[in-house]
Amino acid sequence: MTEAPQPSRERLTELFLKYTTILSPFRHERAMADAVHADLRALGVDVQEDDTGDRIGGDTGNVWCVVQGEGDPHIALGAHIDTVQPTDRIEPYLGEDGVFRNRLRTILGSDDKAAVAAIVHATELLRASGRPFPTYEILLTVSEEIGLVGSKHFDEKVLKSPFAAEFDSAGPVGGITVKAPSHNTFTATFRGQAAHAGVEPERGRSALQAAAKAIAAMELGRIDEETSANVGIIKGGVGTNIIPDLCEIQGETRSHDEAKLANATAAMVDAMHAAAAQVGVDVDIAMVHEYSGFALTGRSPVVRLAKAAVSDLGLEPALHASGGGSDANILNARGLPTVNLSAGMIQVHSPDEHCSLDDLERLCAVCLRLILMAPDYGPGGAETVSGAGE
Ligand SMILES: [Zn+2]
Repeated sequence: MTEAPQPSRERLTELFLKYTTILSPFRHERAMADAVHADLRALGVDVQEDDTGDRIGGDTGNVWCVVQGEGDPHIALGAHIDTVQPTDRIEPYLGEDGVFRNRLRTILGSDDKAAVAAIVHATELLRASGRPFPTYEILLTVSEEIGLVGSKHFDEKVLKSPFAAEFDSAGPVGGITVKAPSHNTFTATFRGQAAHAGVEPERGRSALQAAAKAIAAMELGRIDEETSANVGIIKGGVGTNIIPDLCEIQGETRSHDEAKLANATAAMVDAMHAAAAQVGVDVDIAMVHEYSGFALTGRSPVVRLAKAAVSDLGLEPALHASGGGSDANILNARGLPTVNLSAGMIQVHSPDEHCSLDDLERLCAVCLRLILMAPDYGPGGAETVSGAGE
């Protein structure tokens, strides 16, 4: 067992309620960032913020800092400070059952403020302990919820740690996401010819029909165990008596395998071109590679550290493959090995979002262990030298 300070349930509750009360939808994280800046500065930590806010039309940049202990930074801990757009205020409370919820019918914001509260409280405890601890870094990104926009604009070279742990996966503490897919999205615009549907239909070419034929020809849903495809939005048409000259569809493909991603994406593009040609309309397809996938093996030092930290707490580590992306995708793609740990948040992005105080306490305890145990798994660390241990 690693000797780690004991998290305070009262202080975690206080931090969690404070952070979740602050509304911080993507591009509007200012108040949340200021609260975290203040909490970290009170601990003597010098907090930096980059110019991402200006570059993405937001009011806040990515926030990072070095918490100076012994040696060079051993691990970077990551979370995001934005949320999806709430449809109401957030009035968080801790119920008799020990679970945090929102009194109003919208998100709670535990995604990802549970992680922020845990990281800040871990820092408070280490600072207050009066005992030496390894140096570590904290990275808090903005606008994660609209496509990892903050991390995409972050210069990861400012981080000096050999690896990172993100806390941005739903589910009970103990889960470790080691694999996540690559992701492409597209917007396709079909352009035909409008005409009166009853008077001179011969003159019309229906953009909507072309889009419908394209979608009908696509293989959607789960294509194989590693690959999925979806069309999620269709827009077009203004009246039943008008042949629609414009139709837009938006869709996506994901895969844990780059070649399969390319094939699935190409198949959708082919279906759209074929349908457009058949109906005699034009189609423009704007394809965006949102992020690349990653797959860390059980021998990866950061995976072994995460498993050891979870086990040290008496929990069973559970390695997961995710179907979604996180800042870990961006950091891994840029050469910083990063796991994504479950942060205890449940049913995120919904009015039923909740998180238990027990899990928040466990999250903070895992966070402390990651920091304290990191040197053993870093370059030249005892656990790296002693071999795989898988
Ligand atoms: Zn999140």
